[in-house]
Amino acid sequence: MNAPFSPSTLDKIRADLAAAPRQLFIDGKFVPAASGETFDVIDPATGQVFASAASGDRQDIDLAVKAARRALDGAWGKTIPSQRARLMLKLAELIEANGEELALLESLDNGMPIMMAKFAAVMGAAEQLRYNAGWATKITGETIDPSWPGEWHSFTLREPVGVVGSIVPWNFPFVMAVAKIAPALAAGCTIVLKPAEQTPLTAVKLGQLIAEAGFPDGCVNIVTGFGEKAGAAIVDHPGVDKVSFTGSTSTGRAILHAAAGNFKRVTLELGGKSPVVIFPDADLEKAIPAAAMGIFGNAGQVCAAGSRLFVHESIFDQVVEGVTRRASTLKVGGGLTPGTEMGPLVSQEQLDRVLGYIASGAEEGATVGIGGARLEGEGYGGYFVQPTVLTGTTAGMKVVDEEIFGPVLSTMRFGDDDIDTIAKAANASEYGLAASIWTRDMSSGLKLAKRIKAGTVRINGGGGVDPAMPLGGFKQSGWGRENGRAGVEAYTEIKAVSVAL
Ligand code: ADP
Ligand code: MG
Repeated sequence: MNAPFSPSTLDKIRADLAAAPRQLFIDGKFVPAASGETFDVIDPATGQVFASAASGDRQDIDLAVKAARRALDGAWGKTIPSQRARLMLKLAELIEANGEELALLESLDNGMPIMMAKFAAVMGAAEQLRYNAGWATKITGETIDPSWPGEWHSFTLREPVGVVGSIVPWNFPFVMAVAKIAPALAAGCTIVLKPAEQTPLTAVKLGQLIAEAGFPDGCVNIVTGFGEKAGAAIVDHPGVDKVSFTGSTSTGRAILHAAAGNFKRVTLELGGKSPVVIFPDADLEKAIPAAAMGIFGNAGQVCAAGSRLFVHESIFDQVVEGVTRRASTLKVGGGLTPGTEMGPLVSQEQLDRVLGYIASGAEEGATVGIGGARLEGEGYGGYFVQPTVLTGTTAGMKVVDEEIFGPVLSTMRFGDDDIDTIAKAANASEYGLAASIWTRDMSSGLKLAKRIKAGTVRINGGGGVDPAMPLGGFKQSGWGRENGRAGVEAYTEIKAVSVAL
């Protein structure tokens, strides 16, 4: 097998990052922040600063929004659908051609294992563009026969919603950024994108590739900076027509309030506390490793992570032992360390948060089956935490009710086989993002799937995102859907046109 990356490429990237701060990408050009300010970028594997980026604020957002508006009224607005598709396909190719550099940047910035960065992040991003490029030529309205007196020709148009503010989190920085711009571009919108302050690097590289692909200036603008400055300025800006946000539920709520000023359209993909339900007849050879990686994958920093495990009492000990064994063999390390299966958490803040939850679990009576502590010492200078399994956990405990966003699994048993009772336990959450069900009895599986209040339900399979599958939440997990037809249509306004004949 090929080595996952070449050390000389890594050296070049490090030297380049050390040489100068990353800049904002506004109106097709790289520029410093108007204030001249920059912020540090920290390697989560070491806790050391290894790069810096321009700290955009209100002034920069204003320039970016104006550039996006000019592109919408000008070059991008006039680009025909097939040409939009072609540019998006070109960008997908450039992403693949720069895959090694992008994966290295992603792994350095976020801490994720390089193999995950390559396949989930970089390839996933290219596929987002290819899928959505197909939509550019397939967005249609409909013809309608109204019941008004006389003869009419009536139809709907789907027009681009306008200038879109895309705000993305730090857990899958690159694929999230691309998944936000791809459907918006397909629909004919222009964009101001803000990556998370913890992970700005791949978004800046995306700006270079967008320029190289030949998109018109101002079509996509990328402003790195903090949520409370650059992010809030996007959400407040009267020139932004829609905000698409992925992140925490509390920030989502703040965005919803702030967007009310000019009634921005809002799509929110927020937190989760997703149940994994294992029936006694499940194929445990598959269910156990999937349950483990459903919470330990990307160190649990996954909005759809399966963080509440419900297992039938007849197999509870066997399943919990299996997940615990997987936790004990899981190779935790830096994203670029060969063989790493789980990287560090993204930041000190996230480490404190996860350790705080584990401590609260212990206070509330949970037992730490395995893990529960920070990993320190040689090779663990950054924000590492052990994969953790809690037992004796029940609804009402903070570790069961709240999103931890770390590799911490709560485990609950059920004795009753009644589907409604199981559904009630699984639905006992203010979130409703995803759920997994493991059973060989499709009737039980589908009955439970119908009763679960979540945007995504997977039966007998692990997680993963597909650009064709709608993604989003019930309840406090969000508003609207991304991906699929719904995801593209969310970037359009419907106009009903009627002609009296
Ligand atoms: P976390 O708290 O884990 O950092 P957030 O949901 O706050 O997660 O962050 C996700 C994204 O939202 C980041 O890009 C962040 O900068 C941005 N953000 C944070 N606060 C705000 C805000 N008030 N308005 C707009 N964007 C924000
Ligand atoms: Mg925050």
